[in-house]
Amino acid sequence: MKAARLHTYGKPLVLEDIPVPDIQPDEILVQVKACGMCRSDVQLVDGYFRQYADIKPPITLGHEITGIVSKIGGIVPKTSGFAEGDHVVVAPGWGDGTCRHCQVGNTHICPNVRWPGFGPVGGFAEFIPVPARYLIKVREDLPFEQLAPLTDAGMTPYRGLKKLRDAGALGPDRVVGVFGVGGLGGYAVQYAKILGAGARVVAFARSDDKLAVATEYGADHVINVKGKSGADVAKEINRAVGQPQLDAIIDCVGAPEMIQLGFSLLSISGHYADVGLVGDRIDVPLFPRVSREQTFHGSFWGNYTDLSEVMALAAEGKIRHTIKPITFDQLNENLELLRAGDIVGRAVMRFS
Ligand SMILES: [Zn+2]
Repeated sequence: MKAARLHTYGKPLVLEDIPVPDIQPDEILVQVKACGMCRSDVQLVDGYFRQYADIKPPITLGHEITGIVSKIGGIVPKTSGFAEGDHVVVAPGWGDGTCRHCQVGNTHICPNVRWPGFGPVGGFAEFIPVPARYLIKVREDLPFEQLAPLTDAGMTPYRGLKKLRDAGALGPDRVVGVFGVGGLGGYAVQYAKILGAGARVVAFARSDDKLAVATEYGADHVINVKGKSGADVAKEINRAVGQPQLDAIIDCVGAPEMIQLGFSLLSISGHYADVGLVGDRIDVPLFPRVSREQTFHGSFWGNYTDLSEVMALAAEGKIRHTIKPITFDQLNENLELLRAGDIVGRAVMRFS
């Protein structure tokens, strides 16, 4: 089968032919139909994660995976309802099944977690073996190129917004800021409207093209922050919504300067959820965080339940997408475009 693999950190992926992997008795072999490309693919190639997990090459990249059930392992229960030909999405974050996080369904923060696309098996390949419990059956009329990014770009901000909602940070008299309108932020704007219970949504980015996407997806206001001071941005927020501060922030960027800007705009008792990983440090004044009783939420990807909820919204036609379809042969050039920030929406590789 075709597979795009990292053999050496810092070098382009090698597009090669390798054997179709075997499956374990509890696994299902999925024929990949589409796989989205994520900024974390660039970071993986660049070695960003090596200080946390030094994954040994060769690594098959690609973790936003959807496809068709091709072969079912011998001990996959009949009651799971899977049949060959079913359309499925892959829930990432495969836990050990025994730790306390797995026991409550948060397999993606299991200390022994395995990730498709961050090891031997991934979605930039024609086949991938997946433990049956991490597959979700989906309707056959939903396009593969739209399903793929929902497993990360379209799920990660959903979990982050659920954390803000559950913390009481959303509601009719609240203002929620969406930071960054790239692959994740376009979805974040939509979830802020769906889960916000009437909260007004303001999107922040450094590009008018990306902010136009946010407007199209329902942002009440957009603000281009390029070259502006925190005080300038606060004034613009005040003009837009009648208060200079944000009650909740979903940060889809995680760049040091955006985090500093975000905290400078956060209200008393405000909640800040970060899902972005562009930077690797938080450096903000401490006293305002304590005296104003603010909360920071790390929110990482999502679990099976989060993905099920996102799939239900997709099936109801409630999620809109900005997709750039690409071919297997175009993976490396699109990794370069993504590194440069030159992709609007999500690049999704399709196998025909
Ligand atoms: Zn576990």
